[in-house]
Amino acid sequence: MEKARIQRLPDHIANQIAAGEVIQRPASVIKELIENAIDAGANRIDVVIKGAGKTLIKVVDNGCGMGASDADMCFERHATSKIRKADDLFSLVTKGFRGEALASIAAIAHVDMKTRLSDEETGTHLCIEGSKKVSLEETVCPSGTSFEIKNLFYNVPARRNFLKSDNVEFRHIQDEFERVALAHPDVHFSLTHNENELHNLNAGPLRKRVVDVFGKKTNDRLVPIEESTDIVQLHGFVLKPEFSRKTRGEQYFFVNNRYFKSAYFNHAIHQAFDGLLKEKTFPGYVLYLTVPTDKIDVNVHPTKTEIKFEEEKFIYSILLSSARQALGKYNITPTLDFEREVSFDLPASMRNTPATEPTIQLNPDYNPFKSTSGSSSSESQSHKNKKESYKDAIRSQGFGTQEASADDWKNFYSIGEEEEKEEQSTIPMEDEIPAADNFLVKGSYILVPSKSGFMVIHARRAIEQIVYTSIINSFISNPVDSQAMLFPVEKELSKREKTAWIENETILKQLGFEARIKDDTLQLAAVPNVWQQESIQSGIDHVFSVIAYGNIDKGDIAHGIVASIASAAAMKKLDLRTSEHVEKLIEQLFQCENHMHTPGNKKIIDTLPMEAITHKFN
Ligand code: ADP
Ligand code: MG
Repeated sequence: MEKARIQRLPDHIANQIAAGEVIQRPASVIKELIENAIDAGANRIDVVIKGAGKTLIKVVDNGCGMGASDADMCFERHATSKIRKADDLFSLVTKGFRGEALASIAAIAHVDMKTRLSDEETGTHLCIEGSKKVSLEETVCPSGTSFEIKNLFYNVPARRNFLKSDNVEFRHIQDEFERVALAHPDVHFSLTHNENELHNLNAGPLRKRVVDVFGKKTNDRLVPIEESTDIVQLHGFVLKPEFSRKTRGEQYFFVNNRYFKSAYFNHAIHQAFDGLLKEKTFPGYVLYLTVPTDKIDVNVHPTKTEIKFEEEKFIYSILLSSARQALGKYNITPTLDFEREVSFDLPASMRNTPATEPTIQLNPDYNPFKSTSGSSSSESQSHKNKKESYKDAIRSQGFGTQEASADDWKNFYSIGEEEEKEEQSTIPMEDEIPAADNFLVKGSYILVPSKSGFMVIHARRAIEQIVYTSIINSFISNPVDSQAMLFPVEKELSKREKTAWIENETILKQLGFEARIKDDTLQLAAVPNVWQQESIQSGIDHVFSVIAYGNIDKGDIAHGIVASIASAAAMKKLDLRTSEHVEKLIEQLFQCENHMHTPGNKKIIDTLPMEAITHKFN
């Protein structure tokens, strides 16, 4: 007779094997126990460690506690109070999710648990060793739950030997502890190792928690970020670039209060710091995303630090733009001093960058005059002063001081494209300079007199940059206004274009596009309303060159699309009929953080120095 070779593993062995997935080192135990405590509603959690967790891990919480039968049950595999059906896995807001942690811990250690429901007189004291219940008795204990874990991996010597030095293991513990502490500023945490109290973190606002965890000096280094969209809410801090570290230490992402790692999102933040970091340093950040639970999948990795996001590209763009905006606000002072060398105005990231198209590597997001909320009111005040000084700066250059009427302007300058006329002959002598400050040349260039000569502004590019900046600054929280089309514009799509459109639909929608794809035809029902009829076709082509053929970074796609929108928007007929129009244009341009270059890195402003003019007459 054939001898059966297949046998079912005894439970305790199966448990040990399964435990390996959840519990890799002492730090994993701490993470699981703290997360359970948070799920139990605790607002105080004390962690006591000895011998880097190899000797003792103790986690005490003041959460809901367990009744006697739950206490007995909680160490069974797949015992959980948190899910009832498979669907629940996708809508989980709690930390644990499959009832494996306690079973795993109990399989490979000695566990001593005391727990009491707050409305019971007595609690339960339970001891388990290697999945075997040693004792279960009624006891007197505080309400909440306390776990003591000793002799971790005592029955899995291979694992125990695999553990690193105490220093390394404790570092892992500290990492886990700090991650949970950062995720829950409303909970009081303490961490004690070998009788030394390393952390005692009172509940409080997020900023305080970050400072308590990272150290006092951090307070001055934090740059707050806050954004809200339908798809994701974002808040937290980036660290000022000058405090970036040689190691990847202070990089934290949380989603729905759960720590996660993401190379992709990390890249977004790196992009935002582009050009601001010292060589070989890493930016610091603590960023909290809130996403509807059905838009993420936390279940892709057994230890749950990697998370899949349905809208990851959109989120990437939001991270990038918000971080850029925040850094712009805090690090770059707008320069409106025309006497300075023009190149001084360039942020470091833009100097010596060869022009490439469509390269969106500038930091265009800073609007120094946009009022900022709350804490930074003193800053916006100083920005306001700078705004006033824009005109003063020109006036102080020694040219006209009276206001011009619109009619004066018409006499001197060409008026729009249809009325182009040569006007060199009318350039006035200095002492008969009209009250107006600026000259519009051929409807395309604006000459702004300054003490050292003229500043020359490329009007069309200025518009491009203004549109770009205003959309970039606002599309995250406000979808771009769109205009419905009388007749949908159609475009045949290649396979690649079709995929590209579908992949980026969320971003495109946010940017004012509405379309259906029927078979292989794109039917555009609405486009951004900054476009005029005649720029729609080339605008769309430009958008496709970015989304389907651009070699720009995949997450930088929003910037690429916005750049396309802006460049098509600037194709419209320039409306610079009056001095007010020109004034307004200059003013808006200087409200852009990058008033020197377009998103495609083309020059917007140049100077015509006095010496050059004088030289011509030598
Ligand atoms: P999960 O957290 O996935 O449910 P665990 O094995 O971590 O699985 O915990 C099993 C169950 O034990 C939990 O669902 C919860 O009901 C209970 N439990 C665990 N820790 C605590 C605690 N600190 N306070 C109250 N109940 C707890
Ligand atoms: Mg759990």
